[in-house]
Amino acid sequence: MPEGDTVWNTARVLQRALAGARLTGSDFRVPQLATTDLTGWTVRESASRGKHLLLRLGSPGPDGGERRTLHSHLRMDGAWRAYAPGERWAARPAHLIRVVLRSPGAVAVGYHLHELALVPTAEEDRLVGHLGPDLLGPDWDQAEAVRRLAAHPDATIGEALLDQRNLAGIGNLYKCEVLFLRGLSPWTPVRAVPDLAGTVALAQRLLAANRGRWTQSTTGSLHRGQTSYVYGRRAQACRRCGTAVRKEELGERVTYWCPVCQPLPG
Ligand SMILES: [Zn+2]
Repeated sequence: MPEGDTVWNTARVLQRALAGARLTGSDFRVPQLATTDLTGWTVRESASRGKHLLLRLGSPGPDGGERRTLHSHLRMDGAWRAYAPGERWAARPAHLIRVVLRSPGAVAVGYHLHELALVPTAEEDRLVGHLGPDLLGPDWDQAEAVRRLAAHPDATIGEALLDQRNLAGIGNLYKCEVLFLRGLSPWTPVRAVPDLAGTVALAQRLLAANRGRWTQSTTGSLHRGQTSYVYGRRAQACRRCGTAVRKEELGERVTYWCPVCQPLPG
């Protein structure tokens, strides 16, 4: 599940593969960029902002003065992979390829990317300016995230944690797990959450703990089937109390929770 940590890891993969390199070719397989050619552009840096990826480029020529950002979003199923030149692109089927970026040292292939767009770097905010504080960003601001959450007291905490305008990087997995660990029903109104700051701090710690690896674990175990408390565990026994974990729709997403460990307040 691509959440903030996966996107952070992906940004790092692209940074290692391409940063500082001059592109020797590009191949966009989406209609809106079909005629775009980034040959000669230099990759300045790769960054993540919440669940958004930003590949920042400088134009060809001695000054590299024009700055553009290639934006992509992984949603549920997107991925970037870096290959050595000549290596077979084996990660995903070829029909899922949306863009190929070639450099002398590496080839970056983007699969099933969403919201692929090339914008002037100065206008990145058009794409990511609405986001709340980035849980894994260098400018992470917990107080601001809490302030934004608290500004909508009647929202359910389950939906509020997923709303990237409040804080950026939490997806469904971390949402479910944080709420379990805090003993909060996903339907708890934000105003009834006893310690919003503690909840936000825990989410940040869980994402940060999973930086640098691709297996997402909130339990401390990396063994298959033991990496989560409730997420993906419908009808299985709660690891704490043994009650069957439930799965239900909440807003636009499903949520997993233990009805005993996570009671509604009042
Ligand atoms: Zn339980």
